[in-house]
Amino acid sequence: MLGSSIRGLDTLQRRNAYQACVLSVLTYGLPLWYAPDGKGVSRHTRLIAKVHSYATRWITGAFCTTPNGAKEMIAGLPPIITILNQRLHGYRARIVTLPPSHILVATMNNKWTNPAYSHVSPKTRPSHLPSDDPFKRLRTHLVRKQFEFSADVQQPGRRCVDLFPERVVINTSSPKKASKSFKAWVENLKTETQSLHRSQDLVVYTDGAYHHNDNRASYTVCTTWHSTWNDFTDWCPAASSFDSEVWAMEKAIEIITSSGARCAHLFCDNKAAANAVFNFEVKSSQMSIIRINHLLNDWLTTNGDNELHIHFAPGHSGIEGNKRADALTKTGLKECPTQPPMILRSHFVNSYKREQSDIWTRLFKDRTYRGSQWLPVRRKKKIFKPSGAKAARDFFHNMAHGDPSRLSRISYVMTNHAPMGEYRLQFFPDQPAHCPHCGEETLLSRRHILCECPWYVNKFPSLTDWGSQRHNDKSLSGFLDKNPTAFSFGKLPRDVH
Ligand SMILES: [Zn+2]
Repeated sequence: MLGSSIRGLDTLQRRNAYQACVLSVLTYGLPLWYAPDGKGVSRHTRLIAKVHSYATRWITGAFCTTPNGAKEMIAGLPPIITILNQRLHGYRARIVTLPPSHILVATMNNKWTNPAYSHVSPKTRPSHLPSDDPFKRLRTHLVRKQFEFSADVQQPGRRCVDLFPERVVINTSSPKKASKSFKAWVENLKTETQSLHRSQDLVVYTDGAYHHNDNRASYTVCTTWHSTWNDFTDWCPAASSFDSEVWAMEKAIEIITSSGARCAHLFCDNKAAANAVFNFEVKSSQMSIIRINHLLNDWLTTNGDNELHIHFAPGHSGIEGNKRADALTKTGLKECPTQPPMILRSHFVNSYKREQSDIWTRLFKDRTYRGSQWLPVRRKKKIFKPSGAKAARDFFHNMAHGDPSRLSRISYVMTNHAPMGEYRLQFFPDQPAHCPHCGEETLLSRRHILCECPWYVNKFPSLTDWGSQRHNDKSLSGFLDKNPTAFSFGKLPRDVH
């Protein structure tokens, strides 16, 4: 299927193909047949677990006797129950954050959406406090995650950029930060902003920040007009720094359109946010963008001379207004309450993702999950633990450079389930288990290959010594590089093939 261990898809492509083509079919209609943590539906989940196990074997090239946990960790795929829980949660979050007028919300009455929380007893919480059930909170608090597809301002021909192409100028291009011309460009921008400050135009700088750990977000708009500075800082609900930047833009446009200025220059330090202002695709903070366009349309229609220029001004490059906005946003972030009153869908999904990722990390401690022979390999000097983070999920793929045969060798060495002595003694006792280079008396074990056999180079003094090396992932990778025959089928006695 789609390539053998020699040619065809690389290992990451295999994982992506499985997630996109197989998992989405397996989880089709999930809310109809699945219950949180797979309780009471093990008949279905057992079937899916078989496919999952097969897929991890296909990705890693490990044996069917290799523990499922080890295969999942190497492939970077969470346990199947975690995946199913996450997908179920995604459905829920999406439906409860739809606008109240949406047909799905009206039909479902949202009752079916919270069985996962049915075990939470409301009596344990004092009645004067708001509910700690996130779904209830979503219903009682204003949710900004709404999408609009048919607003006037987003119809082709009615957008600001279509109606007033000469009066709305977006200039967000810049040379690359590492390039030589970047410095000169920034200097040029500095002088340009200085002369703008002295002119009759209104100059506006925006900045937004988001603190992922405790959901704090703040934004700042700094304006200068006739050489007088005017600052505005506030905190806002945001699920990413993009959201808070868009909030800042919204406030900036509000200030511009009510200021009475004829020509305004808006400097934003986030290119994505600056470009998003006239892009109506369904995305985070789309409602803010529609509001921005409403305000701008009015402003540009009322006075035929009004003009808006949107620029990109890179952060931390010494532009006065930017520095000011940046400092104020940081102070605002400190003053922001730890729990903004509104919850966005991304808050919701992300906190659940972290929770599930922690469960996976805890599972790692279970020897039956990872297998008793798992090697204590390190990632960035710390013992590798699986987690939902991309860097951890891609760890073994990067170590194998995407090469399937190399990943299978890594899975042999990591789990000690390899076509070698100890493994054969256990599963195929009638087949030879000795080292082909050292004679019949020497058992071909993982320790023998990594530390003892004279046939191999770049060996380790001992497995304990290797375990305590701070960069033992690199040395293991180096060993596999230098000894292409180690842990591969190539140097096995002929009768194994
Ligand atoms: Zn040997």
